[in-house]
Amino acid sequence: MRSPLDDSQPPSSASGGDIAYATPSAARDMGAQLRLFIDSVKDYAILTLDPAGSIVSWNTGAERIKGYRSEEILGQHFSRFYPPEDITQGKPQQDLDTVNREGRLEEEGWRVRKDHSLFWANVVITAMRDTQGQLVGYGQVTRDFTERKLAQEQLLQSEERFRLLVEHIQDYAIYMLDPDGRVSTWNAGAERFKQYKAEEIIGQHFSRFFPPEDVARGKPWYALQVATREGHFEEEAWRVRKDGSLFWASVVITALHDPSGKLRGFAKVTRDITQRKQHQERRELEMLRDAVRARDEFLSVASHELKTPLTPLQLKLTALLRTVENHPSATLPVERIARDLEVARRQVRKLSDLIEDLLDVSRISMGQLRLDRAPMDLASLARDVVTRYAPQSAQVGCTVTLEAATPIMGRWDRARVDQVITNLLTNALKYGAGKPIHLRVRMDAGLAVLSVKDEGIGIPLEDQARVFERFVRAVSERNYGGLGLGLFITQQIIEAHGGIVQVRSTLGEGSTFTVMLPPGPDVTPEPGAPPEPGAGAPPEP
Ligand code: ADP
Repeated sequence: MRSPLDDSQPPSSASGGDIAYATPSAARDMGAQLRLFIDSVKDYAILTLDPAGSIVSWNTGAERIKGYRSEEILGQHFSRFYPPEDITQGKPQQDLDTVNREGRLEEEGWRVRKDHSLFWANVVITAMRDTQGQLVGYGQVTRDFTERKLAQEQLLQSEERFRLLVEHIQDYAIYMLDPDGRVSTWNAGAERFKQYKAEEIIGQHFSRFFPPEDVARGKPWYALQVATREGHFEEEAWRVRKDGSLFWASVVITALHDPSGKLRGFAKVTRDITQRKQHQERRELEMLRDAVRARDEFLSVASHELKTPLTPLQLKLTALLRTVENHPSATLPVERIARDLEVARRQVRKLSDLIEDLLDVSRISMGQLRLDRAPMDLASLARDVVTRYAPQSAQVGCTVTLEAATPIMGRWDRARVDQVITNLLTNALKYGAGKPIHLRVRMDAGLAVLSVKDEGIGIPLEDQARVFERFVRAVSERNYGGLGLGLFITQQIIEAHGGIVQVRSTLGEGSTFTVMLPPGPDVTPEPGAPPEPGAGAPPEP
């Protein structure tokens, strides 16, 4: 390999003053070492040119980066490393002119390899002059920065893509605030909601988006404080557009810190959710209206139901009074009086049942339904209820059968469970009058199961899910009476016990209500337990 360094004269400290040597022999040795060093450097293309720009020396790095072996390239003009368009424009000579004028040139640009591929080069060209200042040639050091360039470009591109994305988003106002709260960027969404153009708003304080009363209370500054302290601030609130109109905004402010932890500003994302809020408010208003309508309806039904027993009660009492007034005490028609009193008592009973239901509903809605659990037998309780309603069953022409072989034990609130069975049985008598009714009590999969089956009017499929709601009553030509509270109370009682109640029904064919109750705390169900002799509460476990 030929090189200008390949000279019998070693470079001397006196010639350029760039390299200092301890002694002339060190200088000689160093000259050889330096040649070796330059030649073996792989990461830098180090080459020298004569004053006309022809290549005089070529190292391993140059071969590696540019692809030419030294024998191919020595003596060639260095302009062949430039892309054709640079050559057309005379750039190689311009570069040398710059070096002549300024002593050196450093630049980055595309250069061409032997195989015509391009690489991104960092190039330094230095003029080499002798002691008289005469130009003897040029030294050039080139590095291949292609990878770094591509990575940089990718980063720029992705930053650019992201910037474009944010800029064009319409549905979100996305912008930045400086640490003082002044707007520093603005996107299409921000312009759309807030009506300011970027040039009108950048540099303005973001407090102008707040209603005056919020500004007076210092809310904008409070929001930035919270974001700074906690990383972000979020709220839904009114904001002001440029024309002074308000919109309901969902706002997130995020604090932006640099790697050293210094607050750089805030990112702000705002959405106009006025429509959603209006929609929600409309729905709430509708629900409120529905609730008021339901309450009014209930009041009218309740007054009617409460008044119904009063009319016969009043008539009987008047009749009784007249009987007593018109008969001397010795001749009082005792039997008639007893009959009338019985009617009066039944009506009072109806009234107090209605009032009891109302009280239960208000207890439930205030969360005051308390259970008084004690060990009991569900089968014997069902038997009691059936017996109690025997006269009424006979009156409406229903045969009621009960299937319950063994005691079904659990810790339940006896009075409340009694109320449940009574509700289901009286509904069956009411809606299944004249047809058989069948009750069944059994254990199934560890649960006590009670079902009440009638063959009455049934419930339309679309109403079956609703019958357990408050105030839901049969819609039929016949007025069955009732407040529509019985099944609601039933369900609440069963659920308070941790159980469930269901209905299966076919319109016109009948209904089956099924209650499933877990045995309750501290009770292990005994499916094979022998039947208890006689009804009544068994001893405490
Ligand atoms: P009420 O019987 O006082 O109206 P409930 O809450 O007990 O109130 O019942 C709600 C509604 O469910 C009744 O109005 C009726 O439409 C329907 N329903 C309840 N039990 C039966 C049944 N066994 N057969 C048919 N419909 C029933």
